[in-house]
Amino acid sequence: MDIQFLGTGAGQPSKARNVSSLALKLLDEINEVWLFDCGEGTQNRILETTIRPRKVSKIFITHLHGDHIFGLPGFLSSRAFQANEEQTDLDIYGPQGIKSFVLTSLRVSGSRLPYRIHFHEFDQDSLGKILETDKFTVYAEELDHTIFCVGYRVMQKDLEGTLDAEKLKAAGVPFGPLFGKIKNGQDVVLDDGTEIKAADYISAPRPGKIITILGDTRKTNASVRLAVNADVLVHESTYGKGDEKIARNHGHSTNMQAAQVAAEAGVKRLLLNHISARFLSKDISQLKKDAATVFENVHVVKDLEEVEI
Ligand SMILES: [Zn+2]
Repeated sequence: MDIQFLGTGAGQPSKARNVSSLALKLLDEINEVWLFDCGEGTQNRILETTIRPRKVSKIFITHLHGDHIFGLPGFLSSRAFQANEEQTDLDIYGPQGIKSFVLTSLRVSGSRLPYRIHFHEFDQDSLGKILETDKFTVYAEELDHTIFCVGYRVMQKDLEGTLDAEKLKAAGVPFGPLFGKIKNGQDVVLDDGTEIKAADYISAPRPGKIITILGDTRKTNASVRLAVNADVLVHESTYGKGDEKIARNHGHSTNMQAAQVAAEAGVKRLLLNHISARFLSKDISQLKKDAATVFENVHVVKDLEEVEI
């Protein structure tokens, strides 16, 4: 499981940073890629990665500001032009209005898609668990921005224990159907009368990963709730230390506030994105340094950077 950052800038694109989008690559887990936000130019960034647009099965939108959604019509149209590839449906989750934005853009531009989009819109009253599959559950909660904006908590379900095949072979279990039975937790008796207890050969279940991806927000308790015990928290850092007042006025956070959220939630790792173009590279190292005084395991991400979870 990896996160690849497609756009890490705030508001408008700069040479170094495109506007908001990131890909949660779940290729080993479910052979899918989930996009979070889709600012203008996201499809160009994707061209610089190994991500195949057809693998993008779900798109989660945090809020309807242009720098988070203007890339949708272009991406959706290009996704249709995949010669010789099977067309697969796509789900879009986001605040009420996202469906009308997408359908209007497609209709006005005369774009017809050869696949279906399933829209899952929500508002203040219909948040909480927004998706559950056999492997993942996704929750959304409202943040505190200048318009309705949410954060997402993606929870992987616990992973089953694995079968220790070497140990089974050593115990004299012949490779074959018995392996399957033991894998399913069934105790078996071998021909020579040896009893094999399944539990002795299956490792304990491993806890699933928790990934929290927030939209734009002032510091709020909702961020902490979404991030509790997360393996990774992706948090905006539009402003730096000392800019708390201006951050508040514009509905954003500073690096210090993001670090406080990470500390309060007890996350393992904090990744800062939504970085203003005002910051030069020396400012970026300062952003990290300052945040690290509050929460040590912090990193300011770059476009196209890939982080393993
Ligand atoms: Zn915004």
